[in-house]
Amino acid sequence: MPWSNYHSHTNFSDGSDVPEAYAREAAAQGLEAYGFSCHAPVPWNLPWCLKTERLDAYTMEITRLKQLYNCKMTILCALEVDYIPGIISPADKQFTADPFDYTIGSVHFVDFFSNGMPWDIDGKPEIFEKGLAEIWHNDVKSFVQRYFQLLRKMLIQAPPRIVGHMDKVRMHNYRNHYFSEDEPWYRKEVSHTLETVRASGSIIEINTRGMYRSGFAEPYPSLWILRQMLDMQIPVTMNSDAHKPHEITGKFSEMAGILTSLGYKKLHTLRNGEWQPVPFGEKGYLS
Ligand SMILES: [Zn+2]
Ligand SMILES: [Zn+2]
Repeated sequence: MPWSNYHSHTNFSDGSDVPEAYAREAAAQGLEAYGFSCHAPVPWNLPWCLKTERLDAYTMEITRLKQLYNCKMTILCALEVDYIPGIISPADKQFTADPFDYTIGSVHFVDFFSNGMPWDIDGKPEIFEKGLAEIWHNDVKSFVQRYFQLLRKMLIQAPPRIVGHMDKVRMHNYRNHYFSEDEPWYRKEVSHTLETVRASGSIIEINTRGMYRSGFAEPYPSLWILRQMLDMQIPVTMNSDAHKPHEITGKFSEMAGILTSLGYKKLHTLRNGEWQPVPFGEKGYLS
């Protein structure tokens, strides 16, 4: 049975291959839908974001693939858009108008260095340490609270179709190096954010990238958050955040087993232009 994947990066930004290589792999694996979600352009020269001048070439290439694979599977054109207040948001017209099919809204930047450059929280450990020290004076709690505050602002002002890696803020928190997810203040931030997601109608992605790339046991969001989301009936979809063609369904079977054991019965997928809950097993959708 087939899967879908709505989160992937090609060599238009920080992925390894041309879009067609991912589409070919998706067709070979029998996926029902494949979505491209390059990092949307930002007003700084960052190597992992699409360049503004290449936006048209990107949409044209994905549109070409849509037609090429028309009979086999649904190809979708999207962007992973950052939320930086006053600068960029998933509601920006240029990212929501035709030919884009949906948006993934993610927070990768938490405020700015004194030189005006945004601080990227999911980069190298040295950059993470630098921002934490220079911008936040190593006040981890304030930084984490600001991350979730930005996420909530995005959900209220510019709700995306899909929320990308909702608790990315813990990426460098291996072995609770900076904080414990059990701390009441952290739990409160997450609960408050989930309430905001529920009100927004956005779908939260279950992002398996850390599992196949770094061997982490849990996806984004953490399993305790997924349990809470199930209680709250927040819709979910499963994405790999692939940066290479062989990653397009990385750890999906294992994750499906975990989701079933948590009590999840359905994942959202885009069919006939609508996001729908569909039953799944370890090999993909069941209907
Ligand atoms: Zn991301
Ligand atoms: Zn991504």
